[in-house]
Amino acid sequence: MDQIVRHLKSSRRVFLASHTQPDGDAIGSLLALGLSLERLNIRTALYNESLIPAVYRFLPGVAAITRHFDSQADFDTAVILDCGSLKRIGAAAAAANKIPVIINVDHHVTNTGFGHFQLIDTSACSTAEIVHRLIKQLATPIDKAVATAIYTGILTDTGSFRFANTNSAAFSICDEMVRRGVTPSEVAQHVYGTYSMGRIKLLNLALDSIEISTNGKLSLMTLTRQMLRETNTLPEDADGIINYAKRIQDVRVAVLIQENGNGESPSNGSGRFHVSLRSDGTVDVAAIAAAFGGGGHCNAAGFNIEADMGELKSKIFDLAQKI
Ligand code: 5GP
Ligand code: MN
Repeated sequence: MDQIVRHLKSSRRVFLASHTQPDGDAIGSLLALGLSLERLNIRTALYNESLIPAVYRFLPGVAAITRHFDSQADFDTAVILDCGSLKRIGAAAAAANKIPVIINVDHHVTNTGFGHFQLIDTSACSTAEIVHRLIKQLATPIDKAVATAIYTGILTDTGSFRFANTNSAAFSICDEMVRRGVTPSEVAQHVYGTYSMGRIKLLNLALDSIEISTNGKLSLMTLTRQMLRETNTLPEDADGIINYAKRIQDVRVAVLIQENGNGESPSNGSGRFHVSLRSDGTVDVAAIAAAFGGGGHCNAAGFNIEADMGELKSKIFDLAQKI
């Protein structure tokens, strides 16, 4: 930690990035640290490859996040947040890898340990918790903007203090953030309170797609591009939908297969899919995801796969036999 703080304080131009298809932790951590480094008069570039989901666009400073890697910028340091591996930031990974010093700040059990410095704590509820620790060491003020970013990261990564990663730090830091100006009901209204009609219709289709393994221990939800088109929604609108499949009685593992990319699916049904896995705490889904080249946490993990939909489903139902 001390070395990282010393290094950051002596940096002139810092590239900060978090994972593609960002969640509240990826965006909150990016903003909180970015705003704090700017307080130290360090020039920063905040990078995320994906469009910021509408529900997070209320966060102060969010407009500064760019989808473009500035190859002219001459960065001396990169800080990679909430990423188990550098490639999780997407297409800029190769360019970021050339930045002289890379700092890896994360809480995933599958973290590869990449970079020159690591600030990894798998017992942290969120990357925002680790960023909060780092900001304390940087001794920059935590104003309402930084507090809102940290609060949102913790709130969303703990599933509103319901998931197994919810720890005492989640409450103590959020308590501090509220004292620093965050209004919980305002954040909740932005993050959870506003669903478009399309999102409700998508939820309906997703619920209708649920299949249960013969032993009842695994539930599978499927979201196709056709469903997004039909409901006029974006991939981000599927955020959190998997939790409905997880809530079903006796289900230990919930799986969401989400079709990625643009253009039409080939007629044979094969394509590129993102698979999300959630566990009730009795099954390590990070290990399952890692076996498919992905990663995550014991209770929430994911991977990308190029496959035939039918074969993918049967592979997933095969997993159900072992749980
Ligand atoms: P989600 O299902 O929301 O996409 O992801 C759940 C968790 O698994 C998140 O913490 C996310 O960072 C991680 N995760 C999802 N997909 C991948 C992947 O392809 N690789 C790795 N390393 N982690 C992933
Ligand atoms: Mn996270």
